[in-house]
Amino acid sequence: MSIQTSNPDEPLKSLSLIATHSHITGLGLDEHLQPREASEGMVGQLQARRAAGIILKMVQNGTIAGRAILMAGPPSTGKTALAMGLSQSLGKDVPFTAIAGSEIFSLELSKTEVLTQAFRKSIGVKIKEETELIEGEVVEIQIDRSITGGHKQGKLTIKTTDMETIYELGSKMIDGLTKEKVLAGDVISIDKASGKIAKLGRSFARSRDYDAMGADTRFVQCPEGELQKRKTVVHTVSLHEIDVINSRSQGFLALFTGDTGEIRSEVRDQINTKVAEWKEEGKAEIVPGVLFIDEVHMLDIECFSFINRALEDEFAPIIMMATNRGISKTRGTNYKSPHGLPVDLLDRSIIITTHNYSEQEIKTILSIRAQEEEVELSTEALDLLTKIGGETSLRYSSNLISVSQQLAFKRKSSQVDVADVQRSYLLFLDASRSVKYVQENNTQYID
Ligand code: ATP
Repeated sequence: MSIQTSNPDEPLKSLSLIATHSHITGLGLDEHLQPREASEGMVGQLQARRAAGIILKMVQNGTIAGRAILMAGPPSTGKTALAMGLSQSLGKDVPFTAIAGSEIFSLELSKTEVLTQAFRKSIGVKIKEETELIEGEVVEIQIDRSITGGHKQGKLTIKTTDMETIYELGSKMIDGLTKEKVLAGDVISIDKASGKIAKLGRSFARSRDYDAMGADTRFVQCPEGELQKRKTVVHTVSLHEIDVINSRSQGFLALFTGDTGEIRSEVRDQINTKVAEWKEEGKAEIVPGVLFIDEVHMLDIECFSFINRALEDEFAPIIMMATNRGISKTRGTNYKSPHGLPVDLLDRSIIITTHNYSEQEIKTILSIRAQEEEVELSTEALDLLTKIGGETSLRYSSNLISVSQQLAFKRKSSQVDVADVQRSYLLFLDASRSVKYVQENNTQYID
């Protein structure tokens, strides 16, 4: 069976746009995995970030298998942000998927199908493919042939498949050559004592000038033949994307509409077998990503059993669940338990707690968000947004940033001022004012 991994005409893009967290590029930890106060878009929440750093280490050491992470804390305290930060800290190709517990229940798909799709979206397959080398482009280079003249006999071998290494060597050279591309046919001189490299250009290969150089200099020509070889392109797709492309009834367009329907288990079985084969042959690498399940207390007992089983799977992603519930009933049962999670799953979970932010932290996060959205805030506007953030929620005041900008534009100002924030606060209610409004006008609503 031949399995397609991408649409030949158009490269696949990750469809999961998690815009409100676009400022987060990692967990913001130092080399000892200690959190920096504000780094990589992450602010405060030090205890939880320290814990996430330990999890990062466990994932990297492969000791996390079979366990899930549960984040418990009030709304808007960065649970999603932490999960996103962890996936980013793991690497740029590490998939991140976020779903909310309530999304599991849909009319079109069964609960387990929604979960399976979410799991498979969170597992990346790094596929190595060989393509023709584009003329003039050098991606891999292996220098193993020397051009020697007279007394400069002998073979000097530099083995590198990495252009960066060559660039790096190149930038360390004696004659100050900067990061220039080394092309097929170029001659490079290597100073034996210092190991420094200089690029001498193509014509040099044909000239006899190199005889004039010192005895300690070696010359190596980048072998033209080698460079004509194919180059290896690595691209990462998710298991789910491979499923959809190969699911005959759907086709790759479904990836864009999100309307993938149920995918037959035979398709998935075949793909698992194929991917395992590629892995064996060194053609593919599995990249476990992060699956974030918000409002996990909304799941029911069947979903929890599914997760329990899936955690044992060969291709399991890192599961991070979030809840803001205390003791509550596990849906589908009559039992109460901490965070509404069944005890067996709770047993397998590492629990991290998040706490409300200080005023200064709210302010820093809001100004990072404003920068990210390219919104200029006056000092007073930022102060007011911070106050609103503390009294309502960080998410609500963060949402007011772009609304206020629109209002500022309307009065032809590029800077958001207090009046714009005040107006947007009045135009758009936060949850508690909205509830109050509904309660006050109770009689006008249908029960
Ligand atoms: P909920 O329980 O309501 O789902 P949550 O705990 O998942 O909330 P987030 O959605 O992560 O909260 O946070 C709300 C907003 O604040 C997001 O835009 C998020 O990126 C940002 N944010 C939260 N915490 C931090 C932080 N420590 N550093 C930077 N940005 C943060």
